[in-house]
Amino acid sequence: MRILALTDLHSRSVKPLLGLEGIDLVLVLGDITTGASLAETKERINPLRDSYPALYAIGGNWDRPESTQWLADEEISMDGRVVRFADIVLFGVGGSTPTPFNTPNEFPEEEFGKRLADCPEPQEDERLVLCSHNPPYGGCYLLATGAYAPAYCENTPEGYGECYGGCYGGCDKVLSGQHVGSKNLRDFIEERKPHLVLCGHIHEGRGKDMIGETVVVNPGTAPRHYALIEIAESISIDLH
Ligand SMILES: [Zn+2]
Ligand SMILES: [Zn+2]
Repeated sequence: MRILALTDLHSRSVKPLLGLEGIDLVLVLGDITTGASLAETKERINPLRDSYPALYAIGGNWDRPESTQWLADEEISMDGRVVRFADIVLFGVGGSTPTPFNTPNEFPEEEFGKRLADCPEPQEDERLVLCSHNPPYGGCYLLATGAYAPAYCENTPEGYGECYGGCYGGCDKVLSGQHVGSKNLRDFIEERKPHLVLCGHIHEGRGKDMIGETVVVNPGTAPRHYALIEIAESISIDLH
């Protein structure tokens, strides 16, 4: 299964992303526009739907309620919804924890648990892919305590491909070097160990990392950046 994952378009054109070879599924991880109208959201999503076999999406904190409602009406929303596609199970959390910009789709950090409540346990032959606009806190070298944990880099479980640990230092790092991701989301990942977490929101946090056994990817701002993900025996990530 080959996935094109993209995020944080912020109303830019999707044209450079159309017609890529061999894509089975497109996952859009939010901030499709910067608070623009539903028409502008459709202008970004529909060409991708026309170009590829399947697409699912979540809204970001900048996407307006009418846009996220449209994703739901079109049955392409993953927000709070379980979607089974071939041998992967998708579950999404749209929006973000509070930002300084008072954007249309924010919720308190403490609410993350509630938003993740319906995230399913995958069947034995399924891979769970959690799509959250908001990244989890820290990377593989940061335990919840903030301690360096090189063991995470050395203990990549079989079937997960190379270990990305420590190379990027978290998908939630802002320019000042601070980690701003969600600790509740991180706790959930450490406990439930989804196979893959796709996120966005922190534009400068582009990268791939691991939290425990979970591969975490922030593809960076589209269309300039995106991730091609191959899910087979192992999960491999190609950042563009
Ligand atoms: Zn954004
Ligand atoms: Zn965002």
